Amino acid sequence: MKPHLIILGAPGSGKGTQAAKLISKGFKHVSTGDLLRSEIAKNSELGQKVSGIISRGDLVDDKTVMALLKANCDVDKVSYIFDGFPRNVYQAEMLEAELLKDKKTLAVYFNIDLSILVNRVVNRRTCGTCGEIYNLATKAPRVLDTCDKCGTVGSLKQRKDDTEEVVSNRLKIFKETVEPMLSFYKSRRELVEIDASMPEEVVFDALEKVIS
Ligand SMILES: [Zn+2]
Repeated sequence: MKPHLIILGAPGSGKGTQAAKLISKGFKHVSTGDLLRSEIAKNSELGQKVSGIISRGDLVDDKTVMALLKANCDVDKVSYIFDGFPRNVYQAEMLEAELLKDKKTLAVYFNIDLSILVNRVVNRRTCGTCGEIYNLATKAPRVLDTCDKCGTVGSLKQRKDDTEEVVSNRLKIFKETVEPMLSFYKSRRELVEIDASMPEEVVFDALEKVIS
C-alpha cells in the first residue's frame, strides 16, 4: 500500500494540480469541506451537530473535523491525500495520534522560490466566459487576449488580488504557518521536499519516485 500524503505548498506552487494527478494513481483526495457537506446531507448524528455549528456561524472545531475524518476514512485500505488539513502542528499531531497512527505517512512539501511564485501569479489570466486559466509567461493564448478554448475576444482577466503586493503578503503568512509543520514532519522523518519550480511533468515524476 502507498503511503498517506500530507500535501504542503504555497498557493500557486501547483500542489493542487499534482494532487489531482495522484488520484489516477489510486489515491483518494480528502477535502474536509466536502466531508462536512456530505455528512450534513446524510443527516447523521455528526452531520446534525456540524449543521448546528455552521448555522450558528461558528467554525467547525478540530475535534469535530477529526471525528468526521475518522468516520469517513478507511486508512487501512485506501491511501489518502490530505490537502488543506492539517493546517497547523496541533492538527498535525491530532491527525497522527487519532487517525494515521502507525500508518506510513509522508508530508510532501512543494518547495518553490518566492520570485517564481510571484511571477506565476501576476501573469495569471482567467477567461471570464469559460473559466480557462492562462499564464502569459508559460501558457499564453495563441491570439492576444483571446481565449483558445471558447474563442471569446477580450475575455482574459486578471484577478484583482493577483498583484505582487497581495501575493507577497499571502506568501509571508503561508511561510509562517508552514515552517513549524515542516519541522514537525522532519523530526518524524516523514518530510520530503520536491522542487516545484520545475515543469509540471517533471514535478510529477519526482513525486511518483518519492511515493513508490
Ligand atoms: Zn474562454
